[in-house]
Amino acid sequence: MIAPPEIRDTIIIGSGPAGLTAAIYTARASCSPLLVHGNQPGGQLTTTSDIENFPGFPDGIDGGTLMQLMEAQAARFGTELLQGEVSRVELGAAPFTVWVDNTPFRARTLIIATGAKAKMLCLPNEWDLYGRGVSVCAACDGFFYRDREIVVVGGGDTAIEEATFLTRFASKVTVVHRRDCLRATPTLQERAFNNPKIHFLWDCVVSEILETDNREVRGIKVTNLKDNSGTEVPCDGLFIAIGHHPNTGLFAGQVEMDDNGYILTRNGTETSVPGVFAAGDVQDSVFRQAITAAGTGCMAGLQVERYLDEID
Ligand code: NAP
Repeated sequence: MIAPPEIRDTIIIGSGPAGLTAAIYTARASCSPLLVHGNQPGGQLTTTSDIENFPGFPDGIDGGTLMQLMEAQAARFGTELLQGEVSRVELGAAPFTVWVDNTPFRARTLIIATGAKAKMLCLPNEWDLYGRGVSVCAACDGFFYRDREIVVVGGGDTAIEEATFLTRFASKVTVVHRRDCLRATPTLQERAFNNPKIHFLWDCVVSEILETDNREVRGIKVTNLKDNSGTEVPCDGLFIAIGHHPNTGLFAGQVEMDDNGYILTRNGTETSVPGVFAAGDVQDSVFRQAITAAGTGCMAGLQVERYLDEID
């Protein structure tokens, strides 16, 4: 366990692309960052097998490997990495306090990069089939479904945007929605209704994911909520797009957030608390890409450096 004696220049919470990029920048600026990562070092990307849209890897790269490389790069410049559960933060006044497994660490600045979690359907085999037909990101995985049939679950902006995007690759996209009308904005709806590749199954929920002997998705079973009838829908991919939860419970009441719990940022990555910055999916409900998370992590790192210069 790293001893917590001094007041550090900066603490970073989260080890996805946002946190690790912030670590690379602050470490190279001699801010001696302490990066705290929880039970899933590397964040959401470690559950993604092939990443083909992160620049610099023309043949694609496995998500876990990409995160290991970022971590090695952060460590090379002197980032201290600490694994533990952050149980509480105190952001009332600087220095800020971060309790890691009940040990307090204090710093003059804090970068929040705790990410977000995709909501899942809670079906028994959905995690076993994750990356084997089950996905939560069309931009990441759509490319693998050229001329295949896909099901998208959800009726919000994300589901309809993803369904429309997926028609670039898929031969057919079926949107399964639990009601008989969409929540998505009218323009997105209109575009989807006019797209001949998109079909809708209304008032239906996914009750089962069907798999092949090789543990890959081969279809789903849906239940109609109005008449309780069941139908099998063959498909190669199941994209779950029923929303995300930002991991911001720790900061509730201490930094300003929007109605969905995303941290509000301004001028780059500044939060409502001077000296506290937020980067990555924790403050981004729209783009949610590894590269945009890394970009805001870079911004947070630079803003910490400038903020420390100013207060000194
Ligand atoms: P959302 O608006 O919360 O929509 C979630 C959808 O999933 C809803 O249709 C909901 O059904 C359905 N759903 C939720 N839990 C479910 C479950 N357990 N089983 C089946 N269906 C379930 O989430 P989102 O679409 O990710 O959007 C989040 C925010 O980001 C929104 O504010 C959205 O406007 C914004 N966003 C904007 C853009 C854009 O501007 N281009 C793109 C993406 C997202 P009900 O409708 O019945 O509740």
